[in-house]
Amino acid sequence: NILLVTHIAPDGDAIGSITAMAQMLEELGVENLLLACDDPAKVKHDFIPMFDRITADIDRITAFQPDLVIILDCSDERRGGKVFQAALSGSPIVVNIDHHITNLKFANHNLVRIDAASTTQIIYDLLLDWRIDLSQDIATSLLTGLVTDTLCFRTSNVTPRVMQVASELMSAGVSLSFITERTVNRRPVEAVQYWATQLGTLQLEDRIVWTYATKDMRRRSRFKSTGDASLVTLLNTVWEADMAASFVETGDNQVEVSLRAKRGYDVSGVAYDLGGGGHPAAAGCTIAGPLDSAIQLVLGKLRDAWSDQTG
Ligand code: 5GP
Ligand code: MN
Repeated sequence: NILLVTHIAPDGDAIGSITAMAQMLEELGVENLLLACDDPAKVKHDFIPMFDRITADIDRITAFQPDLVIILDCSDERRGGKVFQAALSGSPIVVNIDHHITNLKFANHNLVRIDAASTTQIIYDLLLDWRIDLSQDIATSLLTGLVTDTLCFRTSNVTPRVMQVASELMSAGVSLSFITERTVNRRPVEAVQYWATQLGTLQLEDRIVWTYATKDMRRRSRFKSTGDASLVTLLNTVWEADMAASFVETGDNQVEVSLRAKRGYDVSGVAYDLGGGGHPAAAGCTIAGPLDSAIQLVLGKLRDAWSDQTG
């Protein structure tokens, strides 16, 4: 019995890597397979093959009694959420496949490649090793992870090899423009309205730009999901800033922190120090409130990191 798990608040690489691995294992003849993720995946991911087989049902996971758990795109155990905790009760073998620089290598077997632009890029190399035919459906899962984690091939970890992998995936019949349309180029109007609310708080100081959303702002917004609706990616386009941060106060007085850095800067250390993780250019953590002190704590650490990283 093999359980595949990916992280809370899943993104395209999370859903892409879990569904690609599932298809590959089925291709190898694995019959008892369960896909799990704490949060219901977003509707925008519903074009990804096997999307509707992902469960958050703890009872189902406990009853399944996995012998092997493969956790994907998670730098630490907490990212696996409740489904991962439930899966551990029968002491299965755990395999950790990931590309975060902050990965804690917490499993029995750790395949961590920080050179990979997405976890799906690692899985593509496994597909080649295992000599599995690249179907259009597997390629759809894999290319989704590559597109979303590189913001459509715009991040500094996009190498010639990444473009080659993307080209090979497109050659399997996947439309790149369809994937970008579904995952990056469209968002619900509620997300943009929520951006407007948050943007009213924008401040720029010492080449760091940031916004926040209080509990009330969050509640009044009609945006359904958690977090900042990816506003931090927009903040990171501010010419005059080298680092960007967004802060969202949650119902239980925690603060969700999203961090981004321009080329040549690294915010993963700040997130890691605060119990989170990520990549040099994109990282995050959740810390204790109240909002004001959380903001001051993070800004202080970002200023220190900026000074260290500015020659
Ligand atoms: P985002 O700002 O889009 O939520 O996250 C950006 C990056 O930081 C992603 O690669 C994500 O995996 C990582 N990240 C965000 N929040 C956390 C967290 O609480 N813990 C860890 N380990 N990584 C996080
Ligand atoms: Mn990823």
